[in-house]
Amino acid sequence: MDHVSSGCTTTHPSTLRRLGWTEEDQKAFLKYSGPYVPGRVACRQKTVWDVLTEDGSVTAGISGALRKLGRFPAVGDFIVLLHQPEAGVSTIVDILPQRTRFTRGSSGREGTDQVIAANVDIVFIVTAAGHDLNARRIERYLAIAHASGARPVIVINKSDRAEDPHLLAERIIPVSAGIPVIPISALSGDGIRGLDPYLAPGTTIALIGSSGVGKSTLINRLLDNPVQETSQIRESDGRGRHTTTVRQLFLLKGGALMIDNPGLREVGVGTASTGMAETFPDILELAEGCKFSDCRHEQELGCAVQEAARSGILSSSRLESFHRLMRELSFEQEKAEIGLVRSEKRRWKGITKMAREIKRGKGE
Ligand code: GDP
Ligand code: ZN
Repeated sequence: MDHVSSGCTTTHPSTLRRLGWTEEDQKAFLKYSGPYVPGRVACRQKTVWDVLTEDGSVTAGISGALRKLGRFPAVGDFIVLLHQPEAGVSTIVDILPQRTRFTRGSSGREGTDQVIAANVDIVFIVTAAGHDLNARRIERYLAIAHASGARPVIVINKSDRAEDPHLLAERIIPVSAGIPVIPISALSGDGIRGLDPYLAPGTTIALIGSSGVGKSTLINRLLDNPVQETSQIRESDGRGRHTTTVRQLFLLKGGALMIDNPGLREVGVGTASTGMAETFPDILELAEGCKFSDCRHEQELGCAVQEAARSGILSSSRLESFHRLMRELSFEQEKAEIGLVRSEKRRWKGITKMAREIKRGKGE
C-alpha cells in the first residue's frame, strides 16, 4: 500500500533515517506541518548553517526567536526548517531535543552556543601505539565521552608499529572499565573490521583524541566517497551569494554518519564533570565503604578507597589520576562558582540597599 500523504508534511523516512533520524525525532517533529521540513545540521559558519534535508543540502539562517534565546544549532542537531524555495529563503525555527551533546567547558549554559556537536551516538577515543598510548589520557577522554552521553569505544591506532597488537589492548584494559578496546591500523587497514559493530546505518560517530594519532587517516578510510564527501560544498543562499564551507557531518561506508569538527578535536576536560562516575566505577563502588559520605578519599579516617589502595586492590596510579581529574574539575567548577558568588553578592547588595532606602523612606 502506498503511503498517503496527509497533505501537510511529506516525509520520506528512509532518507531521513539515513541522516540518523529516529522515532524520537519523528515524535518531536509531529507538531510541525505545512511548509516545515526536518533536517540535520552539517556545518555552521557563524550565522549561516548548512542543513541536510531529504531533498539535499540547504543553506539557512535562524529565526529571530532562536537568536533571542541564544539557541544556535550545532553540527549534528536535528532542526525544523521553514523552507521557502520560491522566496529563496530557508530559516531554522526550532532545534529538536538533543540525545547527547559535547559542550565547551563545564560552566557552559546548556543548549546554547556552548554546544560543539549534538546527537553523537558513539565516540571513538583514538589513541596510537607509542608515546600517545597513555592510560591517564584515556581516562580523561573517557570522562569527556561519558559526560556527553555518547557511548565510548577505545581505538588504538598504528597497531602496525607494535609487535603484538593484542598486547596494546591489554595495557589499556585496566583503565577501560568494560569499554571495548580495539587495535587497528588506519594506514594498512588491519583490524578495521573490528569497528563494524559500531558503524550501523544511521549511527552517528565522532572521533576524539590527540593530534597526530590518525583521526583524519581513519576517517578517510571509513568514508563512503572521500573525494566527494570531504570536498567543499558550494551553495547559493538565495541572496545570490555563494558560501563555501567544509561539511562536518558526512556519510561513511555502510551508512553510519561521522561528525568531525575542530571544536570536537580540541574538546577539553572542563566538559567532563558528569562523566567521573562512569570513568571510575571501581572507585565509586569502593567509596560506598567510606565512613563519611562526603569522603574525598584523601586523608579521611575510615576511607575504604585509601584502604584499597594500601592493600593493592586499587592501583595507586588509578587513585592518583582520579584525584588529578577531580582537582582539574574542581578548578573549572570553582571558576564557575566564583562567578556565581559574585553575582549573588551583587544581588544581595542591591537588596540590602533597597531595604535601607525603604526604611529611610518610612522616615527612620
Ligand atoms: P590526526 O591529527 O589525528 O588527524 O592524524 P593524521 O590522520 O593526520 O595522522 C598523523 C600521521 O600518522 C600521518 O603521518 C599518518 O600517515 C600517520 N598514521 C595514521 N594512521 C597510521 C597507522 O595506522 N599507522 C602508522 N604507522 N601511521 C599512521
Ligand atoms: Zn574515602
